[in-house]
Amino acid sequence: MLKKLYGYFSNKKSLAQLQVIPREDHNISRRNISHSALKVIQRLNQSGYESYLVGGGVRDLQLGGRPKDFDVATSATPEQVKQIFRNSRIIGRRFKIVHVRFGREIIEVTTFRAHHDANTDKDQPSSDSARSDSGMLLRDNVYGDIVSDACRRDFTINALYYTTNNFCIHDYTNGMDDLQQQKIRMIGNPAERYKEDPVRMLRAIRFAAKLNFSIEPATEKPIAQLRSLLTNIPSARLFDESLKMFMGGYSLACLQQLDKYKLLEFLSPPAATAMVNQASARSFFERTMRNTDKRLANDLRVTPAYIYAALLWPAVCAEESHLITKGEHPARALQLAAQHVIGKQVKHTAIPKRFTQSMREIWELQFRLLNPRGQQFFTLVEHPRFRAAYDFLLMREENGENLNNMGVWWTNFQSANEEERQVMATNFTTKSKPQKTKRRRSNHQKSPAKN
Ligand code: ATP
Ligand code: MG
Repeated sequence: MLKKLYGYFSNKKSLAQLQVIPREDHNISRRNISHSALKVIQRLNQSGYESYLVGGGVRDLQLGGRPKDFDVATSATPEQVKQIFRNSRIIGRRFKIVHVRFGREIIEVTTFRAHHDANTDKDQPSSDSARSDSGMLLRDNVYGDIVSDACRRDFTINALYYTTNNFCIHDYTNGMDDLQQQKIRMIGNPAERYKEDPVRMLRAIRFAAKLNFSIEPATEKPIAQLRSLLTNIPSARLFDESLKMFMGGYSLACLQQLDKYKLLEFLSPPAATAMVNQASARSFFERTMRNTDKRLANDLRVTPAYIYAALLWPAVCAEESHLITKGEHPARALQLAAQHVIGKQVKHTAIPKRFTQSMREIWELQFRLLNPRGQQFFTLVEHPRFRAAYDFLLMREENGENLNNMGVWWTNFQSANEEERQVMATNFTTKSKPQKTKRRRSNHQKSPAKN
């Protein structure tokens, strides 16, 4: 049973009920908190400011998980934080935060925000606060106290504050109960909060997927109505959000949530269309996400290029076939299709060039891995994108495409010694010679889009 101490705090906008959960009634142990985060909290306290661990750090530790990062909330302004930590940098304009760096680890420090609405905004200097016509917060740098800070956070489970002064959790929004009941609940009026920041819709389904929680009805309901507000979000932010969805270790569950709430079309219209219209595309995406989650669970590297290459592959294949039907040379059709589909995609999520370049390479290597010629056998395995392209090829085969068992062939080629490789290359070339043209085309055009 939680021991609860009640107190009432009021601020201009909200009346929040504080529950203080003592150390013996929660799971958060200092041992599981990063030393850097503890250092930041303690230094801020010593300098006379309030400071707490908040957000995913508290939530995930309470659930027995390993937090992705540690966020600190403080009464110090970004400038005051910066003065305390030499190793820090103020970042962001829409939402100023301080990054305190310890080697490779970054602790995000945010100043207590005030929950401000359209009326209070009128009293604020426009450099601190701004709102669009649809109610979206364009800037949110109005500072407040811990109560107002709790109220402007997104979900109750993300608004738990852990203090190192007496190791209690301060809960202003009944977040501990929601954690226990496995509920994602928006703080305040859900529709208003989505209008302020439509990305909260993506965050709601991401946490539901990650934690296997349900979204409580009032928080869930406005999504269907308001989802189109996501078109107002800059593509750079949506790209970041897509990475959190697909590279957080629970991408399959995220994909299922995106599908359930019809939100995939705001991250990737080409993928959403393919997913709805082709069973093979759906299973290809699910396979990609399952593999990605498995790799992450095994501490293997994953890259956004591979995930986006998979998500856009059915659209690229469809476009390629379309271009060939219109008379485009097959060798050029893939290039043009890639350009077209990537062009469409980056309007929604701003995939950096280095990744789009890798995506093109993964796609182009599909053709070359199916039709190796001459010395290509030996150069292909050295190609920087070989491994990704080979994995991609295996995944296509597993998804039911008939690619003449070339996946197995490349598996064997990689494990063969020099001499065996020579024999394999010669055999392949001799065997494939008579039907070279025919096989090239049929292999190349096979795609999940057509199965
Ligand atoms: P994770 O780091 O595991 O993705 P998190 O909850 O820590 O989850 P962050 O994006 O690191 O998420 O944000 C830290 C905290 O900041 C959140 O827990 C939440 O309290 C608050 N927050 C982040 N984004 C928003 C938002 N768009 N609206 C309101 N509050 C937000
Ligand atoms: Mg976090």
